[in-house]
Amino acid sequence: MTVRPRDDLALRAGYHSPQLDVAVRLNTNESPDGPPAAWERALIDEVLPSVDWNRYPDRGAHALRAAIAELHGVAPAQVFPANGSNEVLQTLLLTYGGPGRRALLWEPTYALHSHLARITGTEVVAGERGADFALDVDTVLADLAAHEPSIVFLCSPNNPTGVVDDRSLVEAVVADASARDALVVMDEAYGQFAPWSAVELVADDAPLVVVRTFSKTWAMAAARLGYCVAPEAIVAALDEVVLPYHLDAFKQAAGVAALRFGDDMAARVERLVAERERLIGRLRAAGVEVWPSGANFILFRPPADGRAVWQGLVDRSVLVRDCSSWPRLDGCLRVTIGTPDEDDRFIEALEEVLA
Ligand SMILES: *Cc1c(COP(=O)(O)O)cnc(C)c1O
Repeated sequence: MTVRPRDDLALRAGYHSPQLDVAVRLNTNESPDGPPAAWERALIDEVLPSVDWNRYPDRGAHALRAAIAELHGVAPAQVFPANGSNEVLQTLLLTYGGPGRRALLWEPTYALHSHLARITGTEVVAGERGADFALDVDTVLADLAAHEPSIVFLCSPNNPTGVVDDRSLVEAVVADASARDALVVMDEAYGQFAPWSAVELVADDAPLVVVRTFSKTWAMAAARLGYCVAPEAIVAALDEVVLPYHLDAFKQAAGVAALRFGDDMAARVERLVAERERLIGRLRAAGVEVWPSGANFILFRPPADGRAVWQGLVDRSVLVRDCSSWPRLDGCLRVTIGTPDEDDRFIEALEEVLA
């Protein structure tokens, strides 16, 4: 038998965050608390009985688009929802990337941007970040001029570094991309933690798409729901490309119900920010190099072999993200902010490993 995957997929490592059976899971930036109990009750009392299981779902997800549009003060036709923001990113690349087209991004950043680009046959060019992983506007604009991308990926707050991009930088990139007929994709998976959102810059005459997810601060990673806010013409193009009926009826209604609990979400963000600052203090006290974070995770470099520290934590039933072998992140690990109890167990395990 000689069936084999496409040649251009060979030797790609894929995207793997190990799912180990541990007591403290701080490796994938989920919310440590579940969604509000009242939302879970609404799922059973209202959402489940509302589903006509023998019928295809509303293909346009009209109620969900309207609820998301209201959240952001945009038109429903500027909203494209999908199965997690990963499916949004994939659909953007299927529509605006592909063979003969190029994506530009700045490493280190979210691994799925380059991974999905390659899977869709899009060439990937990686630029460099400056000191402490911040983007420098002159470098970024020079990269756009040099590489003439079809798609430019930004991520703010950036995963895995926690850096928040300045509004002036994003404005400059969008203006430059507009003159070059390139599309700017801003990934705001952690947008609720940032002091500003690029959603404010979305306009029908600007080539800017802002991607959001229910997986992190909305505490719904299990549901696989994300969306983008974009010019109407871009949303219309994405609707042409995505599979018909891609969003199931239960998920559409569950998303609408979740948006009633915006206050709980905002309170969760506030708790996590306070807890993040506490944890940064404890990491510094433990002699660990820490980068400031504008999100619900912390990038740090222990004063010992990163991989060995990661394994030592796993041996103590604590799972963090091992970035130690990623380019530009030599020896680094990333920890998600958990509950205060989980964070204490993490820091105690780390102190033991480093002792
Ligand atoms: C976690 C994360 C996502 C989320 O993807 P979903 O498919 O919505 O779960 C997207 N972008 C970044 C940068 C992330 O860190």
